Amino acid sequence: MKCRVCRGPAVIDIRRHNANFCREHFLRLCRDQVEKAIGRFGMLQPGERVLVAVSGGKDSLALWDILVDLGYAADGFYLGLGIGDYSDESAGYARRYAQSRNLTLHTVDLPATHGFDIPGGARAAKRAPCSACGLSKRHLFDDAARRGGYDALATGHNLDDEAAVLMGNTLRWQTEYLGRQLPVLEARDGFPRKVKPLVRLSERETAAYCILRGIDYVVEECPMAVGNKHLAYKAALNDIEVQSPGAKHDFYFGFLERASERFRAQVERDRGDLAPCERCGSPTDAGVCAFCRLTARATAPKAERKGAAHLEAREKPSEAVARAALRPQRTRAGMTPVRISDRRLR
Ligand code: SF4
Ligand SMILES: [Zn+2]
Ligand SMILES: [Zn+2]
Repeated sequence: MKCRVCRGPAVIDIRRHNANFCREHFLRLCRDQVEKAIGRFGMLQPGERVLVAVSGGKDSLALWDILVDLGYAADGFYLGLGIGDYSDESAGYARRYAQSRNLTLHTVDLPATHGFDIPGGARAAKRAPCSACGLSKRHLFDDAARRGGYDALATGHNLDDEAAVLMGNTLRWQTEYLGRQLPVLEARDGFPRKVKPLVRLSERETAAYCILRGIDYVVEECPMAVGNKHLAYKAALNDIEVQSPGAKHDFYFGFLERASERFRAQVERDRGDLAPCERCGSPTDAGVCAFCRLTARATAPKAERKGAAHLEAREKPSEAVARAALRPQRTRAGMTPVRISDRRLR
């Protein structure tokens, strides 16, 4: 197995590129793919300040590493979700990476600052854990980017994530969600610009990138992910990819090039007027924002929870879309053999 570029010994094969790469040229490929995504979709301009949502997993740490390498002023933001050992462990990986590279990592602990953790909050609010989690992440990531004056918020969604979300949205023809599934959401009305620079890399590639760069990341999946439909879509797409290398890429980028625009009009039409949340000041079209409603229910004494229910108005479509975008990223990819021997690549 020889590197396509230098003909030296290869360490990884990438079937959708029909090529093998040595360490140096694989790392360069990853950087090139991120640079290409940033340029093609106008995600970032040189010199902009970026806040990277860091989970301690391979995708967000690879993203942070590559953005810094490309010269962006990128700081990290870690949100402690209070999911037992999993959260403690993830925080450790995020902190150690930041320290090792002398980078700035902002942290917010949900239980300490808002009085609830994800499992407890989800139970109290009668929501699925990933629903409560996605809502909290979206709100607190936006808030951190706004307060810090960052030009954009970057998340580690990779090609596998985006293809799986697209599959879920397409299976149910959720047209509004399809209209919003973009690699860049422009800033508007107090929301920061949101970018996904890893859309041209698979999760197998981000894992390999971390290993080859010596970045240690949390391997265990969040215990709340069990039974998540998103994982089932990923598994189905991995099976298809084995038979037809490049299928995920063609599915997602074909959608962006040929179909996405058809769903945009509905999104523009349904867009409500935003005003500051009555409680926290974040932009919302619902008087009290969804996060404040969740917090009210999650922190109310049991007897009062019924009373807090009136705040839990029907979830806005825009909130559900954001939840879909924040579904878990920590799944095992369907792998073709690589020479790198590490359990994190299985
Ligand atoms: S699987 Fe992801 S979205 Fe769901 S609770 Fe865990 S971290 Fe949050
Ligand atoms: Zn090479
Ligand atoms: Zn609010």
